[in-house]
This record gives sequence, structure tokens and C-alpha cells, in this order.
Amino acid sequence: MRAISLQSGSNGNCIYVETSGARFLVDAGLSMRETVRRLALVGRTLSDIDALLLTHEHTDHSLSVGGISSRYGIPVYVTAATEEALACRGLGAGIASARRFSPGDCLDFGSVRVETVPTPHDSVDGCAFVIEEGGLRLGILTDLGHVFDGLGTVVRSLDAVFLESNYDPGMLVQGKYPAFLKKRITGPGGHISNEESAGLVAAAGRVFSWVCLAHLSGENNTPDAAVEAHRQIAGPRQDIRVAPRDRIGELLEVVKANRF
Ligand SMILES: [Zn+2]
Ligand SMILES: [Zn+2]
Repeated sequence: MRAISLQSGSNGNCIYVETSGARFLVDAGLSMRETVRRLALVGRTLSDIDALLLTHEHTDHSLSVGGISSRYGIPVYVTAATEEALACRGLGAGIASARRFSPGDCLDFGSVRVETVPTPHDSVDGCAFVIEEGGLRLGILTDLGHVFDGLGTVVRSLDAVFLESNYDPGMLVQGKYPAFLKKRITGPGGHISNEESAGLVAAAGRVFSWVCLAHLSGENNTPDAAVEAHRQIAGPRQDIRVAPRDRIGELLEVVKANRF
């Protein structure tokens, strides 16, 4: 199993995951044209995708879902409430190929299983995903709201993870965001901080295949600050990567995590 972030952050999110049994896009927050261009950098096209898994309706995750669905007919896995919210925003009218699931469902793709994990993010029906094949488990955990009950258990079950590390608390407090936005980000439906993310990694009791920090804020974080928090809190043994906010990341191969 391998994965690559095509982009990660409030300007657009899209992750490509390839297993031996199926090829997935998680979210479609880039324009269709840019999605096509970046997939081509790894030798793939949208026609290669078996399923598009949608985490939630926010535009940075859903911008081109309607276009991709109508142009390519790729099955879009989405909850009913998220589909409705997209339709209200004029983005979901084109989901001709919607496959509905309920948060918490397991989706079956032959040799691949996808667990859907409900999140308390401030969307109508947000979900994170765990993609499993051949005993390897990859988590795609962003837009988490807060460190909710059960999140640590999910993280502990993984071999590799794209994990939200949205903000540095000091930078957020001192930064220029208006008070209401600061409150939203740190509130129960916002995003998790570098320290919270690193705390989850530290508590997992394993050395992950890799941890790719995702959905970093451009205003209230830097890749160096996020990595440093992880080094301090989770220790030097973890292989910490960062998903860039403005370009494609590294192609990452998932291997088994080591427990300690
Ligand atoms: Zn987002
Ligand atoms: Zn969101």
C-alpha cells in the first residue's frame, strides 16, 4: 500500500492511496484540472480511481467532487447529510455516482476494507478513514474537531497515518486571526494542534511506518514548528513527514509499524 498527498491544508485537500486491490482518492479539494495534473506526476489518471472517499462538505475537501463524479463516473462515498450539504452549496448536484454510507460503517472493496470514523469537526457529518489491506492499516485523520474519545484507540491501531497537526498554539494566540476564528480553531469543532497531534503519536506505543503531518495552517504554523513539537513530545524514533500546503508531497510506502 502506498499513498501521496496531492495537497494538504485550507487551500485544498486530496490524498491518493493505492493498494493492490483498489485505488482511492480521499477528498477532492483541488480543481479537477490540478487534480489531473498532480496525479499525472505519479503516472495516474482520474480514470484509474476506483472510489472517491469524501470526509466532509467543506470546500477545501469537496471543490471538484461534482465535476469529477459527472465527468468520470467515479463512485463517490459520502454520507446522506454531507451530500445534502453539498447540494445546498451548489457543489453536490453533480454527484450522479454517490454511494451513501453512515458514519461508523465499514466499506468493502474486495481485498480492501475502509473503516469510517465519525469526527466532531464543525461539518454536518464529518468522517475520517482507515484503509486496510493485508494487515496494513493507513489512517487519514484530519479535520478532527478535538481529541475525541476513541481517537487514540484508532491511532494505536495504525501502521502509518496522515495526521492533522493544524496549529502552533503560541502562533495562533499571537497571530492576526480575528478572535472568533481563533475560538473556532481551538474549539471542539475546529482543528487539533501540533501538541495534541504529537500526544496521540507519543501515546500510540509504536514506531509507525511514517507519520505525515497534514492540514497545517499557513498562518498559525510552520512545517518546522510541527515537526519540532513531534520530536519533543513523541521522541526521535518516529519518521515524521509533512504534507505540503501548495504542492504534491512524497510518495510514501506503508509497512508494518513496530510496537514497543
Ligand atoms: Zn479542511
Ligand atoms: Zn473542515
